[in-house]
Amino acid sequence: MSVLVAKQVTKTYGQAGIGVPYQALKGIDLTVNKGEFVGIMGPSGSGKSTLLQILGSIEQATTGDVYIQNQHLDELTDVNRAQFRKSHLGFIFQDFQLLDFLTVEENMHLPLALNQIKHKDSQQKIAKMADILGVREILKHRPHELSGGQKQRVAAARALIHTPAVVLADEPTGNLDSKSAKSLMQALVKLNQQELATIVMVTHDPYTASFCDRVVVIKDGQLFHELYAEKERSRF
Ligand code: ADP
Ligand code: ADP
Repeated sequence: MSVLVAKQVTKTYGQAGIGVPYQALKGIDLTVNKGEFVGIMGPSGSGKSTLLQILGSIEQATTGDVYIQNQHLDELTDVNRAQFRKSHLGFIFQDFQLLDFLTVEENMHLPLALNQIKHKDSQQKIAKMADILGVREILKHRPHELSGGQKQRVAAARALIHTPAVVLADEPTGNLDSKSAKSLMQALVKLNQQELATIVMVTHDPYTASFCDRVVVIKDGQLFHELYAEKERSRF
């Protein structure tokens, strides 16, 4: 079952008469099935972030269509789009984007509160995610007290805790040392396999990409080929 479908997506920047229009995406077709872990690789400037932002309904495509769980993103009003994003999507960013005035537990609780999940269910979900991601001991800490690897595992917990249809990750290992990167990727694979989480991840790092089921390569705004990864993931 496909949870994400992009059809002939293009993006042109600078159309409003400022500078020369630049076509960052030139007709992207991508289908992601439920439970897939897909990597998007490509050189800097190839359009990875732009594509991820369009899939996440943060940016709008210039032409083309994106569907998430059969919802055509263009058909949502701005208010509904914001609500749809909160309920159907999870985001993991390179720079974590945790709220420092909240504890780890409160950061994880936020998406549940935004989706009106009952207190008892929330507590269970937080405990379960904390176990999978190995952050149980730090639930009462604040982000500034944590290592980069811990922060990103908390960010992953927050992105996935409300069981979104798709999790979009933009260079999640970009600020991590190789040991932290490995433990984050192992945790994401676990979530992907145990919870059937669907993950779409942009990375330029081949090691990070090796944890995916499938990697698509983007160059100059076009998808070139797909690699079915050699599966680093099967080794543990
Ligand atoms: P990547 O994530 O692969 O590095 P991006 O999607 O960030 O690539 O950028 C693709 C191209 O689009 C680049 O040439 C970039 O400079 C351009 N671009 C991205 N965002 C904007 C924007 N908001 N306005 C104008 N050009 C942009
Ligand atoms: P990444 O490393 O994730 O690709 P970038 O540094 O390329 O990030 O871009 C960071 C942000 O700046 C993005 O939101 C992107 O859309 C925007 N951006 C990138 N290139 C340009 C540009 N030439 N003009 C305006 N905004 C841009």
